[in-house]
Amino acid sequence: MSNKKVRTRFAPSPTGFLHIGSLRTALFAHLLAKEFDGEMILRLEDTDQKRYVEGSEEKLYNTLDRLGFKFDEGPRIGGDYGPYIQSQRKKIYNKYIKRLLDEQKVYHCFCSPERLQKMREKQQAEKLSPRYDRCCRNLSAEEVVKKINSGEKFVVRQKMPLEGEVIVNDELRGEIKFQASELEDHVLIKSDGMPTYQFALIVDDHLMEISHVIRGEEWIPSFPKNILLYKDFGWEPPKFIHIPLTLNKGGGKLSKRQGDVAVEDYLKKGYLVEALINFCALLGWHPKGDNEILTLDDLEKMFKYKNMNTSPAIFDIEKLDYFNGYYIRKMDLDKLVEIINPYLANNIKKTSDKNKQTDEFIRNVVSTEQERLKKLSEIGELTEFFFVDKLNYPKDMLIWKKQKDEDCKKNLEIIKNILEKISENEWTKKSIENIIIKYLKDNDLKVGDYLWPTRVALTGKKQSPGPFEVAFVLGKEESLEKIQDAVDLF
Ligand code: GLU
Repeated sequence: MSNKKVRTRFAPSPTGFLHIGSLRTALFAHLLAKEFDGEMILRLEDTDQKRYVEGSEEKLYNTLDRLGFKFDEGPRIGGDYGPYIQSQRKKIYNKYIKRLLDEQKVYHCFCSPERLQKMREKQQAEKLSPRYDRCCRNLSAEEVVKKINSGEKFVVRQKMPLEGEVIVNDELRGEIKFQASELEDHVLIKSDGMPTYQFALIVDDHLMEISHVIRGEEWIPSFPKNILLYKDFGWEPPKFIHIPLTLNKGGGKLSKRQGDVAVEDYLKKGYLVEALINFCALLGWHPKGDNEILTLDDLEKMFKYKNMNTSPAIFDIEKLDYFNGYYIRKMDLDKLVEIINPYLANNIKKTSDKNKQTDEFIRNVVSTEQERLKKLSEIGELTEFFFVDKLNYPKDMLIWKKQKDEDCKKNLEIIKNILEKISENEWTKKSIENIIIKYLKDNDLKVGDYLWPTRVALTGKKQSPGPFEVAFVLGKEESLEKIQDAVDLF
């Protein structure tokens, strides 16, 4: 490696949301910068006005903040290489395109959209791949001036080699060869004067002294054009790392329609940043050992970009759920209570009981689910029963296996009697459990015959945390009332 400072960049376009694939790109750019004690910059690629969505910059910055990415330079923090928003760099692009025009490495193209459309249709009919036919490539300087002076609209196109091959080098894949015949004289400056991604990218990465470009594999087709532009300018290109595509489990492309791709949606559903980061890191890279639970801190220590894979990564939501559950279980309960609070708002609204709006009650409720939660957003439905006065469930749900109605009723009454004798001071999960289990053991009774009806009476659900825990959280008075409600169903 040369002794140039390592600088990576994350260059999202403000399209209204952060794609989960972009989070992965940002993460790898961050890890690569860390690997070499380098810098990471944020650059907003907003030259495509058609894709622009109002207000999306702020949303993007907020999301990046929530994810905890720290940039060394960027639109909000500035830096020595700004501006970091492409639409504010028009003058710079003009200067550099002028240079290429003067050196005749690029050319003005005056073809109208209608002509291009016809050309494409003809190529399609002839089963040729659609490609600009280079109609304007050989216009004389006089013709060009005349057309510009008469107000004709134009774009600027790159002159691609007409024959031979172009060989480019990807850090993970090695040499990639392209035939000149596959390459198009693509547009560098659009008719509105804005550069295309292909042009702005080169100028910016060069001027911002980016040493490593990490981007998705979908950009490989434009890779030779990028490298040729570096050549046209006489600049040394950065190292390019194309990370593999992320496919869904069926092997198809991840698309907005096939489930969520927006990071914001994942955060809204209650996926933790730790889980998203851990999950994304494994889409294209793997640690040496078997342990896949890795925090950002761990990743920063272990990541070597040369160990990244090139085979497609599979987006397995169950794995993300697994990581999320893991990080929820590991989280300090107070922290969990704090971040899960918004998801409990609807439940809290359902009760007029002031005791159920206290921090202590909420904390106890959350603790009953910490072990089982996969997403924070599940907490609302899972714990609703804690907040309602009268549960609504069919009597049959109380029946354990082939139990007779009268036995179920009798067992509920027995449990109620036992609970009644436990003093308020003794009302803890452990003592409720010890007292009931001792009774069942001493009398040689079957656990399911008693605990299933009790649990359903307290929760109204087939699945829930255990009866001792729920009884503890509900408190003595309400637990007795709920068991009585169950008895009254017979
Ligand atoms: N602005 C591009 C996008 O959002 C980024 C591509 C790159 O990283 O070079 O897709």
